[in-house]
Amino acid sequence: MKPMPILTVSSLSKSYPGLKALSDVSLTVGSGERVALLGHNGAGKSTLMKIVLGLIPYDGGTVTVHDAAPGSTEARNHVAYLPENVAFHPALTGLEQLCHYLALRGEPASKAMPLLSRVGLEAAAKRRIGTYSKGMRQRVGLAQALIGHPRLLILDEPTSGLDPVSRREFYALLDGLAAEGAGILLSSHALTEVEARTDRIVILSRGIAVAEGTLTELRRRAALQISVQIVPAAGAEAAIAAVFPQAEHRAGSLHLACQQDEKLALLARIASLGDKVADVEVQPPSLEDIYSHFSRGAAA
Ligand code: ATP
Repeated sequence: MKPMPILTVSSLSKSYPGLKALSDVSLTVGSGERVALLGHNGAGKSTLMKIVLGLIPYDGGTVTVHDAAPGSTEARNHVAYLPENVAFHPALTGLEQLCHYLALRGEPASKAMPLLSRVGLEAAAKRRIGTYSKGMRQRVGLAQALIGHPRLLILDEPTSGLDPVSRREFYALLDGLAAEGAGILLSSHALTEVEARTDRIVILSRGIAVAEGTLTELRRRAALQISVQIVPAAGAEAAIAAVFPQAEHRAGSLHLACQQDEKLALLARIASLGDKVADVEVQPPSLEDIYSHFSRGAAA
């Protein structure tokens, strides 16, 4: 069953003078769903996010956040935003900074510490932000975004500049928020990391949503070839090449390509070569390949 949509974007279009930034874009983010918005620089990701936040107007289509218009009080009560580069006052401690944001939202300072511990900053709460790492500053940003229990989180390249461990920790936090029912829309250039950490992917290319689905669905739709590398046993390269004359020879290995539905038959043929084969590696198309496939298709 599809989760209840918290964000619905239908046939959205937006032009800047002389430029169509978004054309007929539709997407939904459901309760508890993590949706990745992928696209090259200038694809329209920030424009879409700004519209959802009610920061800029749009030309056509409809956008609803929790059944309300973007920017309305109702929508703003349910949506939180984390920009790519969060700037804080370096002289303030994490606790002071969060108390300040809580005061701006009319919320009591007593909520600061629970929010900081939620994002793993309890121990560092009384240290100046100037001493924090980039990952810790990003977590202060997330704590701030969590004020008021938002139903929808809009995260603009939240992990850019974070090391792999901080990225993993950040995504683990997002997993927890999604498990509690928050919908998450995040943009990223880091394709391989969203592969494992999001439920659905929307690929934007020049303002057009060129593909949408789970990674498995996108893989199937793109129907890209799988590559199979055979490492021959000593002295067996010629014998294997005779069976697979179409194989490319690279650095002592033989490389073949096949469609997904041909894979098992090909592996069976390779296995029948017995000890002539030292090893076999199967490489499915990466998210980068899939991304280029759909982006190229849109440009054609
Ligand atoms: P990036 O990954 O670089 O942040 P993006 O996918 O977020 O890119 P947008 O910032 O939404 O892309 O920009 C989409 C297009 O709209 C780009 O060509 C950009 O130059 C243009 N654009 C964005 N804001 C404005 C503006 N205020 N006036 C005119 N053109 C703009």
